[in-house]
Amino acid sequence: MMRRKIAGQVSLEDLARICPILSRRNHPEFEGERQIEVEVAGVRFGAGVPVVIAGPCAVESEQQTMELARSVRAAGADMLRGGAYKPRTSPHDFQGLGLDGLKILRAASDETGLPLVTEVMDVRLVALVAEYADMLQIGSRNMQNYPLLVEAARSGKPVLLKRGMAASLCEWLGAAEYIANEGNLKIVLCERGIKTHAASEYCRYLLDLNVIQAAHEETFLPMIVDPSHATGVASAVESASRAAIEFGSDGLIIEVSNYGVEAGVPRPLCDADQAISPATLRRIVAFARNREDDSNADVAGTHAGDLTRIR
Ligand code: PEP
Ligand code: MN
Repeated sequence: MMRRKIAGQVSLEDLARICPILSRRNHPEFEGERQIEVEVAGVRFGAGVPVVIAGPCAVESEQQTMELARSVRAAGADMLRGGAYKPRTSPHDFQGLGLDGLKILRAASDETGLPLVTEVMDVRLVALVAEYADMLQIGSRNMQNYPLLVEAARSGKPVLLKRGMAASLCEWLGAAEYIANEGNLKIVLCERGIKTHAASEYCRYLLDLNVIQAAHEETFLPMIVDPSHATGVASAVESASRAAIEFGSDGLIIEVSNYGVEAGVPRPLCDADQAISPATLRRIVAFARNREDDSNADVAGTHAGDLTRIR
């Protein structure tokens, strides 16, 4: 009997066709574990040492952002994150400070020397956000906003492409291909948790650790993990970060707050329950930097397959 053909259904076998630019299968020069490096103002993703991006969920004030930028730099972060334009569930919730937020972020980045990544949600704002940011973030909700991907790619800036919360690996890499197709290969993928029936009962999303190795097998792009949105729980962020690094993540993007650490710091307006302290960030950075790479360890009695890691 002939197998039913289902419209739109794709599998990893189709990736060479969907993503001729980005599929590892089409590029013998990227045989095995070779990756490209993506440089953002001197910070290199995919160069062997995990990159740690940290900062607030949203810019709320100049003081909050400047002080937090100093804290995350002191904790060892490589880059600063923070949203000036926020995708919120309700239009009545804090939407971000917009242009004022971009100016504050730029000042914080300049003072600390930490390159800045910030989200752009609107195709009309790409040029403006690109004036202030070192890297453009495409959020989970916009992963398949193809005109936005094209415009972000044309800015020439490196792009942090978050995984759609319900996206398959094929759909995610297909979205990345839109950026590559504009001649911009400065793409870093970011796993940030997916929707499942279980997630939302005891966590915000489900952190898909499996996709780290799968993505490394299918493409030569670096990929990082967002343990903050993936768990939604501050106490889970350190473990999730360590797990992601163990699975070969090229970096982390983490939400941090000084709330409860320093007197007078207000509770964040956005995602307060997943924000970790700078002290916890410092431990995560130390783990990411010092992890011994034992991927080639020859342990007697170990099945060779057990040691096969993509990174
Ligand atoms: C964020 O990083 O601020 C964010 C909104 O993340 P996501 O798009 O993954 O939900
Ligand atoms: Mn957030």
